[in-house]
Amino acid sequence: MTDFKKHIHDVPDFPKKGIVFKDITPLLSDAKIFAAAVDRLSEPFVGKGVQVVAGIESRGFLLATPIAYRLGAGVVPIRKKGKLPRAVKSASYALEYGTDSIEAHADAFPRGTKVLLVDDVLATGGTAAAAVELIEAIGGSLVGTAFLIELGFLSGRQKLPGRDVRSLVSY
Ligand code: AMP
Repeated sequence: MTDFKKHIHDVPDFPKKGIVFKDITPLLSDAKIFAAAVDRLSEPFVGKGVQVVAGIESRGFLLATPIAYRLGAGVVPIRKKGKLPRAVKSASYALEYGTDSIEAHADAFPRGTKVLLVDDVLATGGTAAAAVELIEAIGGSLVGTAFLIELGFLSGRQKLPGRDVRSLVSY
């Protein structure tokens, strides 16, 4: 069994006092560990007909893209406000630190498109819940959600009731 936690570093008080930031850059930069993480995150969704993997800006992009390639799917960026060039739909959310809104192109998920949502960390679940709302508002059909890290003590999965929520490591 790969010990993914060994490659995730805790950074106390970043970006704000009281937050323990999970730094995944050591995991991403190790070829074997990165490949194992992408394979393990993709596995539950092989054969599920995923057509598009939606990744949340910005660390979500780094995982959504290889997972999409692995699943033979396309990739769609869900971005912070004001970054996408064409007509968008948006949803607002509360972070573990601060609040913001996320956007996707209004035509990113043609009706019935099977979508897998990917991000690096499931913390309070606010971001992921907003992303699901956005995907479904545009027309996507959510197959499931996959996170490298789940901060279980923040109960994020309670914001995703009835959804298939997968994570590789929990704290
Ligand atoms: P939340 O909406 O609270 O579930 O926060 C999830 C989003 O915030 C993800 O996109 C993460 O990248 C980021 N995030 C939240 N908490 C942390 C943390 N402790 N370490 C790293 N990223 C975090």
